[in-house]
Amino acid sequence: MENMANKVARIPNLVDWSTGEVRLMSAKCNSCGTHFFPKEHYQHRPGCSREGVEDVLLPQKGKLASYTIQYYPCPAPFKTEKKITPYGIGLIEFEEEKIQVTGIITETDLKSLKLGMEMETTILEMFTNEEKQQVVTWAFRAVK
Ligand SMILES: [Zn+2]
Repeated sequence: MENMANKVARIPNLVDWSTGEVRLMSAKCNSCGTHFFPKEHYQHRPGCSREGVEDVLLPQKGKLASYTIQYYPCPAPFKTEKKITPYGIGLIEFEEEKIQVTGIITETDLKSLKLGMEMETTILEMFTNEEKQQVVTWAFRAVK
């Protein structure tokens, strides 16, 4: 677990590290059982009564369902002070929740990527803001 002091999420209500693990903030509809991300996405299924929607954290670990490698910088509004090119974009499946989430792949040898491999949710430091805080977003990395 990295030191999360002095870190602030780029966009609120997407990623949580208060439990000691970095996890995505999802929600589950208890009418139809659908998980969704971001959790505010309540218009998830036409015809569903959407009753009993509750916030849930996704598991820290999922499986790599698909990926691509980008050789150009992330386009705006994404902003980072780090040179991350080339970088991977992974589609991570959380099997039990039946949801797939896309994110940048960090701290991983891109040549080692294989479909089905175990990945974990982590954070990517983007830039330092005017309050000297590290602004972060979620990312995924291979489980070591
Ligand atoms: Zn529903």
